[in-house]
Amino acid sequence: MIRRVLARLAAEALAPLASLWVWRRGRRACARGAPIEGSERIALSSHVSAGLLDRVRVERAPVGMRLGRGVLRALGADVATPGAITLGRAVIIGRDVECTASLMLHELVHVAQYARLGGYGFLRRYLREWLMSGYMGISLERDAYELQAWFERGRPFDVEDEVDGRLRVEG
Ligand SMILES: [Zn+2]
Repeated sequence: MIRRVLARLAAEALAPLASLWVWRRGRRACARGAPIEGSERIALSSHVSAGLLDRVRVERAPVGMRLGRGVLRALGADVATPGAITLGRAVIIGRDVECTASLMLHELVHVAQYARLGGYGFLRRYLREWLMSGYMGISLERDAYELQAWFERGRPFDVEDEVDGRLRVEG
């Protein structure tokens, strides 16, 4: 109970700062990044609309969120080192990480979640669930991992329809 309340309060306090960072870093990544093209785009086009693929920019750079990780760790969250991070419609993938269609599908689920919830809504929910239940307790991550697994198994679905349906049910 106490943990729920503290997680909610911490998420409320951190979400505006996180939104500002995501907006600024995401804008830079969009300016530097490249569109999804070629064989990668073809591999994803069965599950992702052309409109969503067109909006996204991908930057290869260190996934730098040292300060954010430090704050989360201080608040008791379990913090792994991510290979990729999505900031709005910008996807940053570590230079030493292999960029597969499967990884990109996972990140595109987050792009669709950002579009549905808005930056502030996405981050507030993400931070609250992380602080409350740990990384695998984040519903936005669980959905991304589940859809990534479906994609790997060749199951047909549309990323935006799935994200819309799941977020509508959860409210
Ligand atoms: Zn994720």
